[in-house]
Amino acid sequence: MDKEMRAAVYLGPEKIELRSVPIPRPMAGEILVKVRAANTCGTDVKTYRRGHPKFSPPFIFGHEFGGDVVQVGEGVERFRAGMRVTANVFAECGECFYCKHGQGNICTNLVYNFGAFAEYLVIPVSIVRKTTFEIPLHIPYAHAAFLEPLVTVVHGWHKVDIQPGETVAIIGAGGPISLMFQQLALRSGAGQVIAVGHSAVRLNVAKELGATHLVNAKEVDTIVAVRDLTYGHGADVVIECAGTKQTWESSVEVVRRGGRVLWFGGLPGGTKVEIDAARVHYGEIALLNMHGGTVNDAREAFDLIASGAINVAPMISGELPLEQVELALKKMIAGEVVKMVIKPDS
Ligand SMILES: [Zn+2]
Ligand SMILES: [Zn+2]
Repeated sequence: MDKEMRAAVYLGPEKIELRSVPIPRPMAGEILVKVRAANTCGTDVKTYRRGHPKFSPPFIFGHEFGGDVVQVGEGVERFRAGMRVTANVFAECGECFYCKHGQGNICTNLVYNFGAFAEYLVIPVSIVRKTTFEIPLHIPYAHAAFLEPLVTVVHGWHKVDIQPGETVAIIGAGGPISLMFQQLALRSGAGQVIAVGHSAVRLNVAKELGATHLVNAKEVDTIVAVRDLTYGHGADVVIECAGTKQTWESSVEVVRRGGRVLWFGGLPGGTKVEIDAARVHYGEIALLNMHGGTVNDAREAFDLIASGAINVAPMISGELPLEQVELALKKMIAGEVVKMVIKPDS
């Protein structure tokens, strides 16, 4: 096997370099995977633009992947060379205060797994043990790579607990997260799914995946549009996936009295949001937050992909080689694509 591999190294905001670096070796309990497909994600875009809150450069980024096991570390029994696998980007420790309360998603010792925009990556021990899955033969690598974003969506889906017939407004629609939320909302029996976004290309994908109404926030006032579609009440459930202060605030105006808001999209630390306290209090509006997902969410997400219950194909807008990670991210920023697949061996 070669000693060196090509990898897209993140050096700082808007700085990525394709470098030749040593192929990592799996230590005890780890596995080495040859990456066959690595998908671009909103987190990669955020990192590209403003850095990552937990990691400082340089590092190889990319975290949604499917590939082949090429080597296993000592003591690994569940995986062997030749297996097709995908893995979540994190795994909980199972030992801390939060894990012991069944809240592994906010574990204080989360182990992360970055480095998928490269020819090879090593998967850390606890991720091998808890959140790595063998991909069935009928599932393409790039489809299995949807595991990580779907884990978080499954977590939020359980939290917001959509009931049959409810109207769900999804703000920031047309991005991959929102497109998975809308499919799960429909699975829960949502009566209407109102997709609110500002990219016509992405809104069309929302339509293709079952959104009943499209609201282009560039053209109309979101609050007025959603209220018009709900007899003036507002939506039963609002899922905010855009991750802006303004959409966090407008979510509270778009939801009906007695409804539920799920703020999915994270905001930079220190951000203050302004909401009408009286509207929230007297209107009994539930404000829900979430981050990541648990090992159980990961298992469920993997099953949803493997069974075909979640349709991921329309979210893949195209493929690019490793040399063009930056171009792929720029296409994401421009709203021209939903997700791009990076193929390190093309
Ligand atoms: Zn991701
Ligand atoms: Zn923990």
